[in-house]
Amino acid sequence: MMKVAAKLEDIKEQINQACGKANREPNEVRLIAVTKYVSIERANEALEAGITDLGENRDEGLLNKWEVLGDKPVWHYIGTLQTRKVKKIIDKVEYIHSLDRLSLAEEINKRANRKIKCLVQVNVSAEESKHGLPPEEVIPFIQSLRTFKNICVEGLMTMAPFINDELVLRECFRKLRKLREQVQALNLDFAPCTELSMGMSNDFAIAIEEGATMVRIGTALVGEDE
Ligand SMILES: *Cc1c(COP(=O)(O)O)cnc(C)c1O
Repeated sequence: MMKVAAKLEDIKEQINQACGKANREPNEVRLIAVTKYVSIERANEALEAGITDLGENRDEGLLNKWEVLGDKPVWHYIGTLQTRKVKKIIDKVEYIHSLDRLSLAEEINKRANRKIKCLVQVNVSAEESKHGLPPEEVIPFIQSLRTFKNICVEGLMTMAPFINDELVLRECFRKLRKLREQVQALNLDFAPCTELSMGMSNDFAIAIEEGATMVRIGTALVGEDE
């Protein structure tokens, strides 16, 4: 297995290139290493290589790694979050990328003792996979979060369809960016909505060209297993 440091160099180069194409600065893109498939050792190797942000999609995965790595990385919870799991992870994470329903917002607000940075997950491509809100429900949903003092809507998140069609991917990322503009136009103090969390191993370059401010990269950066 290739060292994370070598893969990181390669990914940074691709990020630079994508930023160059889109007239953006590389420091506008936060790289999140998704460690859900790999060991604590591998996650630690990523931190030693200079990664600052880790993403996990299961509560066990996050807690196991947190036991050892603690607050060294900034933790992102990127997976479907069951309401009853919120209290286990809430003190450990800085960002939750998968806010998609009111009951989850209520629980986060109730369990948190500080503001949690949330991204609203959007099912832009309206795929069968039910995760994320349909685009037309996003604005009313965000408006309904007004009274939750522990929730700040930092941005929107999506997972593009698993296909290789660049045009379809681009369209998906563009739609999320358009939606962000609509939210920003509302000027809500609890929803600055500056972030676009989009782009994974297979499509992060396109996502960056279309405005991603956070990319979530697993396989291409830390591998799939040991
Ligand atoms: C697993 C996962 C990723 C990373 O996927 P890779 O294809 O391995 O880069 C990104 N986002 C979410 C929500 C994930 O579950």
